[in-house]
Amino acid sequence: MLTFDERVRRRANRKNNRLRKRYPLFAAELQSGGALADWLVTEQQAASDLADIIQSKNEMLARVAAHDARCEVKGLILRSLVAEVVDPVTLATLDNQRAKIPKAGAYTAEFWFARLRTYHPNKAQARCEHLNSHPLFAEWHDRCPRCHLPLTKPPTVIPPQAEQTMLPF
Ligand SMILES: [Zn+2]
Repeated sequence: MLTFDERVRRRANRKNNRLRKRYPLFAAELQSGGALADWLVTEQQAASDLADIIQSKNEMLARVAAHDARCEVKGLILRSLVAEVVDPVTLATLDNQRAKIPKAGAYTAEFWFARLRTYHPNKAQARCEHLNSHPLFAEWHDRCPRCHLPLTKPPTVIPPQAEQTMLPF
């Protein structure tokens, strides 16, 4: 693992070498002390860029972790709803099945939503995250692809016929 300072130097070198490669005619001037030295990326610039990159990456990772934690909580709520309607042996079997798929909140939520759909369809349908899109889905599907709620096609609206006008001849 490189230290921050090593990464800064590597970053500055890489950017400056790329610059020399892109402008081979000026490569001799693209050196410290050369006429185009101010085109070069300084270690200071590279350090501040790298710090920004590290910070935004950490923020992104924190957002991903927070989202995963929310999904896990949501999944466990769905599990408790399934637990209300299945016997303990079935629940244990389901827990075993869950344990076989990757440990991530999104998988927990997805797994228990599918079980809720099987064992308690009404509750799954009430919690479908696509509830608002159901009228739209009805145009293509008989059932919501997510919660399997039967959908009824919206009535086809026929525009009133344009009034026939009598031509004066
Ligand atoms: Zn749905």
